[in-house]
Amino acid sequence: MSGRAAPFYCPYCGDEDLRPSEEGHGSWECAACNRAFKLSFLGLLARGLQRGEDGTAREGNPKS
Ligand SMILES: [Zn+2]
Repeated sequence: MSGRAAPFYCPYCGDEDLRPSEEGHGSWECAACNRAFKLSFLGLLARGLQRGEDGTAREGNPKS
């Protein structure tokens, strides 16, 4: 994953008329609302590994 995923919709106006910006990788311009924005891949979430495969919940127990 190199962070080159393309957005389908403008996050601001929802339009689909997006084009790559000359600002660099992950930068896009919306032709509908004239906004420029940048997308970046932050990493994978650790969430989802919280529950072991044995079904044991590893979340904090409020009864302590
Ligand atoms: Zn837009």
